[in-house]
Formats: sequence, C-alpha cells, structure tokens
Amino acid sequence: MIESVKTFWKSNELKQNTHVIICDNGCIVIDAGCPISEIKGVCDKPISAVFITHGHYDHIKYIEEYDRLNVPIYANKNIVDMLNSPLLNVSAIFGVPTKYKINNLSFVEDGDTISVLGKVVKCFYTPGHSVDGMCYLCDDCLFTGDTLFSVAIGRVDLPSADEGQMIESLQKLNSLEYSTMYTGHGRTSTKKEQNSNISHYIELLKNKSI
Ligand SMILES: [Zn+2]
Repeated sequence: MIESVKTFWKSNELKQNTHVIICDNGCIVIDAGCPISEIKGVCDKPISAVFITHGHYDHIKYIEEYDRLNVPIYANKNIVDMLNSPLLNVSAIFGVPTKYKINNLSFVEDGDTISVLGKVVKCFYTPGHSVDGMCYLCDDCLFTGDTLFSVAIGRVDLPSADEGQMIESLQKLNSLEYSTMYTGHGRTSTKKEQNSNISHYIELLKNKSI
C-alpha cells in the first residue's frame, strides 16, 4: 500500500504534478517540478529517491536541488540529451533556456525493478511524448508523466516526440494492471477509466487525428 500520495499544483499555467509516495522511513518523489520545500510541506521524512518521468522543463525544473540531496535520481538514459538541450527539454520554448548538470543520475530501462524503502518500483519505457519517457508502477499506482492523462495523451508534436512510439507506449500501458493513475498534469484516473480511453487514442493516432 502506498500510504499517501500528494500532488502539487504549480502556480504557473503548466500545473505540473509532482507526486510523493510516503513510506515509513522516507519518501519517494516522482518528478522534480516543485522545490523541495513544497515536499517538506506534506512529508517531513527524508527523500530517499527521485524518479523522473521525462526531461521536459516543467518536470525537471528543480532537479538540481534534488541532486544536491545525493540520492539516486532514476531516469531513462536519453534524458542526458534532454538535460543538455534547451530545445529538447523545451525550456527554450518557455523563454528560460536551461541546461541541467546532475551528478546522481541512475539509468533505468524497460522492465527494471528498483527497490526503495521496502517498495518495488517497476519501470516501463514509454517514448512518444519524448524520447526519454518512463512510466512507473508502485503497488497498484501507475505514474504516467505526460504519456497518458485522465482524458488525453501527451503532445506528440514536440522535439523528440514520435507518434509511432506513442502508439506502442499506450499499448504497453494498456496491458498493465493498476488501480489508480497519477498523471503529470491534471487529475488522477483509474484503470477502469483508461480501459476505454486508450484504444480510442490509439485509433486517433493511427488515423492521424491527433
Ligand atoms: Zn512533457
């Protein structure tokens, strides 16, 4: 059981969700879209690990702050290009071109399982929205970043996006068992809700309607 997951709504228009899995002896943070001080507002336990869904600016804005904690920051290896490119990490699009230097990156690939604080986090490579897209499953909670939202999918028109990969990633997510889905933007969802949504999105992508 995940004891608690808190979602932070940023004050900017992006309203990125950074999630916190609170465990007995620490917490696990999903994405780095808010400063650590906001995490401390809901969890006074130490941060033991950070999992990044993808290297877009709104999800990694505070990643260097987390890096200074010297805890593992799990991400797909393709994030390296994103961190070094304001174009790829889309910070340039937001008018704040930024490159990030991270010392504690730990690469995860499709099928990896990471044990943290007695939890097992299963890793799924889900490119399509971006080349480094990862989704994470912990207990019965799926963290989808910008691959899949409650009533939409992530954009496939940004640098490093790929419609064909998005179709494969959605098919992968469709095969997973979970109860609650925590997204990179917007409200949470459920497996039940996504059962009908995902096949619809795949059809739209195949017909180039998205
Ligand atoms: Zn994104």
